[in-house]
Amino acid sequence: MNVWQIGNVKVTRVVEIEMVGGTRFILPDAAPDKVLPIKWLYPHFMNEKGKLIMSVHALVIDTGERRIIVDTCIGNDKEREIAGWNNLQTTFLDDLEAAGYAPADIDTVLCTHLHVDHVGWNTRLVDGKWVPTFPNARYLYAKSEWDHWASGDGDKYGEAYEDSVKPIFDLGLADLVDCNEQICDEVSLVPTPGHTPGHVSVRISSEGKEAFITGDALHHPCQMARLDWAASADADPEQARQTRRDMLSSLADSDTLVFGTHFATPSAGHVVSDSDGTFRLEVSRQSGDDFSVK
Ligand SMILES: [Zn+2]
Repeated sequence: MNVWQIGNVKVTRVVEIEMVGGTRFILPDAAPDKVLPIKWLYPHFMNEKGKLIMSVHALVIDTGERRIIVDTCIGNDKEREIAGWNNLQTTFLDDLEAAGYAPADIDTVLCTHLHVDHVGWNTRLVDGKWVPTFPNARYLYAKSEWDHWASGDGDKYGEAYEDSVKPIFDLGLADLVDCNEQICDEVSLVPTPGHTPGHVSVRISSEGKEAFITGDALHHPCQMARLDWAASADADPEQARQTRRDMLSSLADSDTLVFGTHFATPSAGHVVSDSDGTFRLEVSRQSGDDFSVK
């Protein structure tokens, strides 16, 4: 588990699963012989054979007043098409509680988009029914994202709509928000469309310190070096490419700590420009007290 401090805001990562290899279905261009030349990916983001290492995790943003969970992973007991994600039985909720957050403590659930690996723990199975995992939370969906999936235009990665998205909406626990909504003083949404139509990233600002959660605008740090590598699940690959380029350009060479939603441990770092117009993720830089891995 990792804990970071961004000014007065604490960010805690709770891992559901980490994967070594088996990720080409997400990034089909990332063959080992294409990845191995990107040497800085080793050892955190690829192994010595050029297999990608990825993670599915949630990030809890604790401002002292608000406890916001960003993306709720795959969830237990859910029937899923992807074999490694089907009918999971993990200790995610126990791990969340061990990190200091019982489900009842969470006041806001924020989904960067409505794909299966970002909404799973919105609900859990109790006595054969899907019930809200976080009983005291408002669940925030970007309005344009909700409209996309509710209209039936989605793809197979939206198979969680029926068991993890719609039940929350039907119970009146969801709030539809703008893609640039200010959630509280320290936390705001940033529109990053392309992966899905209403995809959002998350900005954290406190005491002059900044952090940014990419969501699936970027799946793996290799896409910083290979800006044209699209994810198979990108709804609009061209728009997703443009969003990635714009996002990385705005983050590069700044003090902003960047969290990837699928970046393997240590999951966060600083985006640095490379001389050829691409980028890389620097994970070794310690920025005072505001970047501590525990
Ligand atoms: Zn994802």
